[in-house]
Amino acid sequence: MSDITREMFDRYYFPLFTPPAFIPVKGKGSRLWDQENREYIDFSGGIAVNSLGHCCDGVVEALTVQAQKLWHVSNLMTNEPVISLAKRLVDLTFADKAFFCNSGAEANEAAFKLARRYALAKHGEDKNEIISFIQSFHGRTLFTVSVGGQDHYSDGFGPKPTAIRHIPFNDPKALEEAISEKTCAVVMEPIQGEGGIIPADPDFMKLVRQLCDKNHALLIYDEVQTGCSRTGDFFAYMHTGVAPDILTTAKGLGGGFPIGAVLATDEVAAVFTPGVHGTTFGGNALACAVADKVISIISAPEFLEGVRAKSKIFFDRINDLGAKYDCFSQIRGRGLLIGAVLSDKYQGRSGDLLKICAKNRLLVLVAGKNVLRIAPALNIAEDEIEAGMKLLEKSVAEFVAG
Ligand SMILES: *Cc1c(COP(=O)(O)O)cnc(C)c1O
Repeated sequence: MSDITREMFDRYYFPLFTPPAFIPVKGKGSRLWDQENREYIDFSGGIAVNSLGHCCDGVVEALTVQAQKLWHVSNLMTNEPVISLAKRLVDLTFADKAFFCNSGAEANEAAFKLARRYALAKHGEDKNEIISFIQSFHGRTLFTVSVGGQDHYSDGFGPKPTAIRHIPFNDPKALEEAISEKTCAVVMEPIQGEGGIIPADPDFMKLVRQLCDKNHALLIYDEVQTGCSRTGDFFAYMHTGVAPDILTTAKGLGGGFPIGAVLATDEVAAVFTPGVHGTTFGGNALACAVADKVISIISAPEFLEGVRAKSKIFFDRINDLGAKYDCFSQIRGRGLLIGAVLSDKYQGRSGDLLKICAKNRLLVLVAGKNVLRIAPALNIAEDEIEAGMKLLEKSVAEFVAG
């Protein structure tokens, strides 16, 4: 038995998080076990990160093989995995070039700096405004949290970076009014994740592209959460066919190993010349070898087919549950990024439902106070879905019983 206890977390860790009473110690697929060897079904996927579940054999092998060869040499040298991963992502997307870092926030930080630098180089220093959307989330560095559209995350750290405008999502008129020749970039999530699993209207996505082109502004897609096969397409933008100039991704990219990426066209990437931006750890051989393996699996057409099939099971089952218990007003999202909106009488109580689920040994997420979020491993097995759905029904029944 380990002498590590949950109480020690509160004693030794910054008081930023409030994890539940158990400590998971082992995972396989979409199952987890805690210190007492109790089993949990994982519908949370480490917040849309564990794209292939826990300890996927092929990924563990790629990690351990690379761990015996080479971990890190810095960007003073290159390495084989970083080149392989960059080529793979370029071959699969609109992009001509890739850059790697260690998280979603870092990817967005680099993307916003890239957009400002591109505008400066092409149009001069007056073109610096970034337009983003209310309820959006782009990370926790001071720049990314200020671009994000939820003030409560950025308040209290001022002075904030300037020349950032927040406008309502899916609102054509607001965008038409806000965008101008001063705009250097519009940044959007194809489906707002943290903001409540709110999909962008396909027509709105097309309008954003048109208005960016008209005003010589770059279009940035933040696919940190929606990317890497999460929505049943390799990237969510592929569903609408509207490509950006810059795309960021992270969460699912390393299947649980920290890595983020910025993808861009040659035209845009060209302004990031030596010394303009950098990173110590980004592009290290170990992270890139793991991500290269993950992407080789999750980008296959048969794999994406599987994600869409599992998605249908989840949507059907959660719809049935909502109808039976009259608890959800809407099920939204795509692929395996699913938001169940609590009906009016349960407003503000997503956290209570999450706690009941955890007590019943089902791990789920919330997206704000009114939305239950489910983002399981993309390869979750049917028996794991069944086991989890039983626990979800049990939890919903307890929840509505009060
Ligand atoms: C999670 C998330 C981020 C931040 O990623 P980190 O790795 O936590 O820095 C940025 N954008 C979106 C859309 C996200 O979901």
